[in-house]
Amino acid sequence: MPLYTGCVDQGFKYRKSGLVRVLTMSRLSDESGKNPRDDLWKGISRGGKFEFPFDLWNPQVAPLGRDVASWYQSKIDWEEFSRRYHASLYESEKYPFLYKLVEDAMSQDQKCPESGLVIQCVCNLPPGRKTCHRFLLAEELQNLAFQEFAYHLEIVHL
Ligand SMILES: [Zn+2]
Repeated sequence: MPLYTGCVDQGFKYRKSGLVRVLTMSRLSDESGKNPRDDLWKGISRGGKFEFPFDLWNPQVAPLGRDVASWYQSKIDWEEFSRRYHASLYESEKYPFLYKLVEDAMSQDQKCPESGLVIQCVCNLPPGRKTCHRFLLAEELQNLAFQEFAYHLEIVHL
């Protein structure tokens, strides 16, 4: 199965599809980073127990909060946001998490047919709009898989 990207709002649907859901935000908040989201912190009550729309929270590969704020307030454009995010992923304290994620993505990719990894964020974007770091992260994982392992990861945006 390919590497997927998707919105955490669809998390329960993705689980039904057998995907491993990785939330890649620095905070469990809305897309502005300012307002905590209870459903992400506490889960949602389903059938008498609390469940979460993600399996793993991986804040280490999230963009920096200040860059998200600058983008959200139109202080930097998308190109600049992308440049900063890309650079941050290759910092020595973050790179091991990026590397682990690419290993997990390849491992899930090789399990057939009921598996796969989905990179999640809260941004709920109209089809075709790609101004969320999850698209950049998926591309970076694809590049890394190819460079380090000569492995082709296909990306599917859900
Ligand atoms: Zn996003």
